Formats: sequence, structure tokens, C-alpha cells
Amino acid sequence: MPSSFHPRIPELMMASGPCSIYPRVLEAMGWQMVHHRTDEFVELMLSVSDDLSKLFKTANRVLPVEGESILGLEMAAANLVEPGDVCINLASGYYGAGYAKVLRGYGGDVVDVTVPYDTSVSISSVRQALDRHPEAKVLAFVHSETPSASENPMEEICRECRRRGVLTIVDSVSGVGGSTVRFDDWGCDVVVTGTQKCLGSTPGMSLVAVSDRAWERAERVTHDTGRYERSYLSFLPWRQWVDHDYVPYTPPISAIYGLKAALDIIDDEGGVDETVRRHERAARAMRAGVRAMGLDLWVDADEHMANSVTAIRLPDDVEDGRLRGLMDERYGLHVSGGLGEEAGRLIRIGHMGYTASAQKVVAALGVLGSAMIDLGHPVDVTEGLAAANAVFA
Ligand SMILES: *Cc1c(COP(=O)(O)O)cnc(C)c1O
Repeated sequence: MPSSFHPRIPELMMASGPCSIYPRVLEAMGWQMVHHRTDEFVELMLSVSDDLSKLFKTANRVLPVEGESILGLEMAAANLVEPGDVCINLASGYYGAGYAKVLRGYGGDVVDVTVPYDTSVSISSVRQALDRHPEAKVLAFVHSETPSASENPMEEICRECRRRGVLTIVDSVSGVGGSTVRFDDWGCDVVVTGTQKCLGSTPGMSLVAVSDRAWERAERVTHDTGRYERSYLSFLPWRQWVDHDYVPYTPPISAIYGLKAALDIIDDEGGVDETVRRHERAARAMRAGVRAMGLDLWVDADEHMANSVTAIRLPDDVEDGRLRGLMDERYGLHVSGGLGEEAGRLIRIGHMGYTASAQKVVAALGVLGSAMIDLGHPVDVTEGLAAANAVFA
């Protein structure tokens, strides 16, 4: 036994993140340390950097920051927002709504655009908000709202903001790798993802893509302590990495080993477009299976649904805790419940990274159906599996 702590590891975790991760990633993370100033490690960082630029589809270097994605999201606000700046915040779910506080924390004058948490924000309401606030400096939104399994139209929103000179901050923590992202083409400014969702690695890193316009903004932003450069959250120390291949801090070496393995998997698959197609297919199969079983999806329309996670509305006669308890204890599958107002009203099954596969989706549908039947709620498991199989065929 390697440690006095030995967790009860779920046979399969298909939560809203993290999920069970690729065995190759797990193995890579077990390697001994190499020093981060050796040529070998710098070469690894440079190769990770090339892979990340391909992943986000940007010519710029993506910042590999140690710290859970929440840190990368806070970095975006800290570097782009100055006290008094009008910031439009699209609140289409738990993370979107919560980001208003981060923007305010850096002095932003926040205008919220709120929609119910079972749908996505329309491009027309984004245009309206931009028309009403021509002075807006920043617009922030969540690409894939993991807590309610909805997805916002990132391409349209970013293109519209670019046209008007408004900087975008995009939380694509559960988007990048699972849904299409074209950072340069769409004119995005800061896009943040994590390593623990569609990339299928460990939690603990923020990957932050930064446009030239966002860099220029970060150079000029001042807070009450002056130019914003002496914080771990500042982009500016990362110029050393971008310009001179010199990482400003000791990288999380094990997480970098894991990230490289995860990026290799995308490469082996034929590139990120193929990985996105796998996530799309897994999501379509999950939704088809849930519906054919006789259950309802949480989000109002297919075109508003995320690729990385599916939210299933709980029938009135099924109690959340009992259902997820049975799925876990009897069938070895750990899934998530709802957050905030959605607690007790839905369950969420993640199909991201390692778990975005035919085997995992079909297994999850079988477990969900079996547990429903155990609880006396009739569902048609055979129909559900047939519908999912048809998507994979
Ligand atoms: C997972 C996730 C985050 C990061 O949240 P943690 O609780 O730190 O994992 C942020 N935004 C979205 C949309 C996410 O799915």
C-alpha cells in the first residue's frame, strides 16, 4: 500500500467532472520528478504548448497555469477589468451567474443578462445588451454550463463582440476538447479550460488562451496597487514564457506529464476535431437513450445541450439521493446531482474525456435504467439501449 490513505474508488465515475481519467494519463502521472529547468522538461513544455495552440486553434501560446480552473477565470477578470468598467455578464447557469461576483471584485460595473437555467442565451439578446451598453468593455459567459448541461453559442457571441471591440471572457472549462472552439477565427479574447473535464486528466490546472488585444489590455490595466503585475494572477509574468521559453513558476510536474499524455490521445485520435466528434456522438447517444427509455432531459432543446454532460429531469416518484446511491453502491457508477436550485431536480451524467465512449455511455444507460426499475419507476431499458446503439452504429 503506497499510502496510509486508500480511497474507495468508484468502478466508474461519470460525474459532471472530474470523471474517471484515461489509464495512460494516470500512468504518466506516476513518473518521478525531473527538474523543470532541464532541457528535457523545457522541451516537454514546448511540445505541450504546441499541442495546446492546436487544441484552442490559436497562433498564440496558451498559458499553462497551476491552479484549478476557477483561478484561470479569476485571472481573466483581474487582467481585463479595471474599476468602473462596464461588464456584460451572461448568467445562463450556476457558473455564469457566479462570475458576476468575480467581475465586481475587480471593480466591474456588471450588467447581467439572465436566462432560465434550462436553456441558453440567444445571440439576439446578446446584441440587445451590447446595443444598450455601447460603453461595455468586457462580455463574459460560460460556453458549456456543466451544472445544467446547457451550451451557449460561443462562435456567434465572440464574433459579435469582436466586431464591436468588446473583449470576451469565456469559461470553456467543460467545452474545450468536447465542443468546437476556434479561438483565432472567432476573435475570442480570453478562453479558460481545465485539464479535468474533456481533456480527461487531473484537476489542478487552468489553461488560459489570451488574444493580442487581451495582452494589450493586461499591459495597461491598473488597480489600486498600480500596474497589475505583482500577483500570481497577473498575465504579465507569463511574458517570460511566451517570449523566452522561461516558465515563471515551478510547473505542476505530475500534472504536466498527465496533460501531455491527454494531448497525445487527442493527437492519436486524429486531432481535436475528431475528439469533439466523439464527444458529440456520446452526447447524442446518451440523449437518445434517455428519451427512448421514457425519461425527460433537463434542457429545453437539443441545440442548447452540452456535449460533455447530460442532465436528466428526475421523475416525481424518484428521490435523487436514493437513485444516485443505488447507481453507485449496487452498480458501481458515480454520477452527479443538481447544484443550487437544481439540487434534487435532476441528475447529471458526464461523458467527457475517457468517459465519452460508446462503452461508458451504454453502461451508464443500463445502470440508470436498472436503478430506476429497482426504485419502482418503470423505464424501457431495451428501447433506451437500442436508441443509443443506433447512434454509435
Ligand atoms: C468544472 C467547471 C469549473 C471549475 O470548477 P471547479 O469546481 O473548480 O472544478 C468552472 N466552470 C465550469 C463551467 C465547469 O464545468
